[in-house]
Amino acid sequence: MEKSLLSKSGIIFDIQRYSIHDGPGIRTIVFIKGCPLKCPWCANPESQKMTLEIMYSKNLCSLCKRCIEVCSSNALKEVNGRIKVDRELCRVCGKCCQVCLMDARKIVGKRVTVDEVLSVVEKDRIFYERSGGGITLSGGEPLMQPEFSAALLAACKDKGLHTVIETSGYQKWELLWPVIINTDLVLLDIKIMDSSLHKEVIGVPNELILDNAKRISESGKEIIIRIPVIPGYNDSIDNLSNTAEFATKIGVKEIHLLPYHRLGESKYERLGRKYELKDIKVPSKEYLEHLVDRLQKYNLEIRIGG
Ligand code: SF4
Ligand code: SF4
Repeated sequence: MEKSLLSKSGIIFDIQRYSIHDGPGIRTIVFIKGCPLKCPWCANPESQKMTLEIMYSKNLCSLCKRCIEVCSSNALKEVNGRIKVDRELCRVCGKCCQVCLMDARKIVGKRVTVDEVLSVVEKDRIFYERSGGGITLSGGEPLMQPEFSAALLAACKDKGLHTVIETSGYQKWELLWPVIINTDLVLLDIKIMDSSLHKEVIGVPNELILDNAKRISESGKEIIIRIPVIPGYNDSIDNLSNTAEFATKIGVKEIHLLPYHRLGESKYERLGRKYELKDIKVPSKEYLEHLVDRLQKYNLEIRIGG
């Protein structure tokens, strides 16, 4: 393995070991920071910006104000019983996190090298071998840091590990392909088939995503299409049928429906952002089974959950 690949660095926000989601077997999930899309249902809002940020948990805070005292940027003040950060002034130096005795402040994001990530991933090689698992790159969007993701997956393949990427596919082909070439399984999120609605809801049109899906499939790589099922946004039979039809057309054999959940909601508050989907209800098991029934005619394997 070339030294230059091992020393490539990128920004991640978590590494999760022993996961049984996001690919076969037992896996280590590496969460890459940064995403070009703006899905209002995003369960990992801390993944959206590529830069480091501060998260604050009001419920842990004792209002001791040690953080305010130590901040030389004057970015912190107490407002209505909570510590408010001015993100324009904050340099994310981390001093306030160091002095907080309650663990109420945390820096999200860390710059790491391929070599550093690999040393964590390799710890569980024995579990991968027994279960058919490996590494999954997730995010955020792994394609937002294409050179780092490509180098990390190349290093993993060099070590004989099974590789999965969870992606929206929103990236120029020239930057996407060097990542995918070392990927065994692509978990491709397709949210909305109508491009103008895609742009309205998510911020970008979907032609690039669909074109990349087609090209990846033509390359012979295995793809599973994943659809987050968000009531009122993309759960119409029309949208799901169009996605299934597209999958069939490009040779994809499996679709996963990922039901909307609210597990990420509290993180919005901790980042000082607003959660826009407060009124959306989590879809019931019966409703999801009904959607699966409606898609049976496409001769695809349809699963609920990832
Ligand atoms: S140092 Fe921690 S506990 Fe004290 S006010 Fe700041 S955030 Fe709250
Ligand atoms: S990270 Fe540094 S600049 Fe930002 S609020 Fe904390 S002490 Fe101030």
